[in-house]
Amino acid sequence: MTEIRTQDLLRAVFGHAGFRPHQEEIVSHLVNGGDALVIMPTGGGKSLCYQLPSLVRDGVGIVVSPLIALMHDQVVALKQLGVRAEVLNSSQTAEEARRVENSLTAGELDLLYVAPERLLTERFLTLLDRTKIALFAIDEAHCVSQWGHDFRPEYVQLSILHERFPGIPRIALTATADAPTRAEIAQRFHLTNARHFVTGFDRPNIRYHVRMEAGGAREALLRFIREKHPGEAGIVYCLSRKRVDEVAAWLCSQGLTALAYHAGMEADGRRRAQERFLNDDGVIVVATIAFGMGIDKPDVRFVAHLNLPKSLEAYYQETGRAGRDGEPADAWMRYSLSDAIQLQRMIVESDADEAHKRIERQKLDAMLGYCELTSCRRQALLGYFGDTLPEPCGNCDNCLEPPQTWDATTAAQKALSCVHRTGQRFGMNYLIDVLLGKDSERIRDFGHDTLTTFGIGQELGANEWRAVFRQLVARGYLFADHEAFGGLRLTDRCRPLLRGEETLQLARQAAPAKREKKSRGGEAKSGDPLFEALRQRRRELAQKQGVPPYVVFHDSTLAAMAAERPQTLHEFAGLPGVGERKLETYGSAFLEVIRTFNQAQGEQPWAS
Ligand code: ADP
Ligand code: ZN
Repeated sequence: MTEIRTQDLLRAVFGHAGFRPHQEEIVSHLVNGGDALVIMPTGGGKSLCYQLPSLVRDGVGIVVSPLIALMHDQVVALKQLGVRAEVLNSSQTAEEARRVENSLTAGELDLLYVAPERLLTERFLTLLDRTKIALFAIDEAHCVSQWGHDFRPEYVQLSILHERFPGIPRIALTATADAPTRAEIAQRFHLTNARHFVTGFDRPNIRYHVRMEAGGAREALLRFIREKHPGEAGIVYCLSRKRVDEVAAWLCSQGLTALAYHAGMEADGRRRAQERFLNDDGVIVVATIAFGMGIDKPDVRFVAHLNLPKSLEAYYQETGRAGRDGEPADAWMRYSLSDAIQLQRMIVESDADEAHKRIERQKLDAMLGYCELTSCRRQALLGYFGDTLPEPCGNCDNCLEPPQTWDATTAAQKALSCVHRTGQRFGMNYLIDVLLGKDSERIRDFGHDTLTTFGIGQELGANEWRAVFRQLVARGYLFADHEAFGGLRLTDRCRPLLRGEETLQLARQAAPAKREKKSRGGEAKSGDPLFEALRQRRRELAQKQGVPPYVVFHDSTLAAMAAERPQTLHEFAGLPGVGERKLETYGSAFLEVIRTFNQAQGEQPWAS
C-alpha cells in the first residue's frame, strides 16, 4: 500500500518520475516507523527523504536545520508544491511565530522547519507534546561533531528528542563523508540502532578540469565561460579579497554579469549579491570561500577556481555547489605554483601546533597530487573519500583528452642533484642556469661552474626545466624554504627517486588547449530562442511572487519544455518537475509561450 502511495505522491506533488538511489528505501523505512542515518552527497536528494514520509505519515514532520536562509528557501519551494510548510526562527516577529505555532498545534501543517535553539526551548517542547508528530529530521547532522568545522553546541542537546519523544521516527542527514564523523553522529543522536544509508559520493554530472598555469588564468576563465556557459550562473573562487574585486570588475568590463562577494564587504552588499545570484538568471559570483555555505541554488552550471583550494575536502565541497539539479556542470580550475607556495607559507607561519601543521601539509600535498594527476580525476577523488570507481569516468579532462606523458626520471635526478650540490639554498631560475651551463658571473662567484651538474641539462630548454621544477615542488620532492628566501630544499621523498628505485612520469606541458567543447546536454539551453522565451516567462512569474526563478521551475524542466513543446495540460503534466500544483499554477502560462512561439515559426499547433 505505502509503496503505491509514495510513488503517487512523488509524481503528483514533486513531479518526479522516479526515485533517486536509496530514496525509496529510506522513505519506506521511515513511513514504517524506523530511524535512519543518511549520508548522501550534495544534490543527492536528501530533502525528499523526510519530506515525502512527512506527507504520508499522520502529523507534522519537524525539521531541524542550522541555516536560516536554507529553511526559508525550502519552505518557499514547498509552498509552490502545495505542501503546508512553515518555518520558526529568530528572524520572525512574535506575531508571525504565534500564527505558525497555532497552525502547528491545530494539526494544519505537513512540515515545520525550526532552528535548534528554538526547538530546545521548554516552551516549544511543550507545544510539541500537544502536537501529532510524523517524524523528526535533523539536517546537516555533522554539526554535532566536535571535530568538524561546523560544530553547533545546540546540536548535542538534540538527543533530548529521543528521550522525550521515544516513539517518533528520526532521520539524521548529512553530506559529510568520513567514518569517524558518521560514528559520532550515530552515537550522539542515539541512532546506533538506526539503519544507515550511505550512498556513493560520486557526482557524475560534474566534469572536472584542472590545469596549472603561470599566467593568463583570467583570460582562460573568460574563454571558458563564453564558450561553455554563456548566460549561465556560476561561482568563481579566488584566494584574496583583492583578487575577487579585480576579477569581478574585469569580467564585467568584458560584458558579463559578475558580482564580488567577500567578508570585507558590508553585510548589505553581500546580501544583495547573494539575492541577485539567486533571483536573476546568469549571474556569476566571484568570491572568497566565504560564499556558498547555505546556498542551495540548483542550477549553478560551473564552479571555477582561480587558485588552489587548501584541501581536497574544500575542493569537493566547493565544486559540489555546481549542478545540484543533476544536469551537466563543470568544475574548472587554473592554479599556479605560487598558490602552492603561498599556502605552504600560510601553514608554516600559522600558530597551530606541529601535529596540526603536519595534517594541513598532507592535505595540501593531496590537493597538489590531484592537480598533477595524469589519470582519471574522479577515480582519485572518490578514492580519497574512501569510495571506489572501478572504471575511469569518461567525464574528466584526463579521460576526455588523455595528457601526454614523458619519462622524467633522469631529468628529475639531474634537477635534484643540482639542488643538492649547490647547497639547497637557491631558487629555480638560478638552478636552471646551472643545469644549462650558463656563463654568468654569479655562478662563477659561487664556483658552481666547476660542479658536476654544471651544464648537464642541455637536452631541455629553460621552459621545460621550469615545468620539471614546478612538478617536483607540486609532488613534494622539493620544498620552497621561506626562511631561506624561497631556496629549494630536498625532502625525504627524493631518496627512492635519486637511487633509481622510482620513476617519474610527468605531463607534457600541453600546447594551449584545443577549444573545449560545450558540455553535454547544453543544447536546449541558453541561445535557443524558445528556451529564452520560457526563461523570460519564468522570470516574470518569479518576480511577481518575490521568489527565485528555480522555485517556479528548474532549468531542466524548461529545457524539456523547449525540446518536447507540449501543447496540452495533459502533455505538460508529463514533464519532469511538474507536479499537480505547478501544473495548475503555471501550466497555461508556459503553454501560451510555446503556442506563441510555434505560431511565430509558422507551424500549426494542431497539425502534428
Ligand atoms: P541535497 O539536500 O541532498 O543536497 P536536495 O534535496 O536539495 O539535495 O535535492 C537536489 C535536487 O535534486 C533538487 O533540485 C531536487 O528537486 C532534485 N531531486 C530530488 N529527488 C529527485 C528525484 N527523485 N527525481 C528528480 N529530481 C530529484
Ligand atoms: Zn575521469
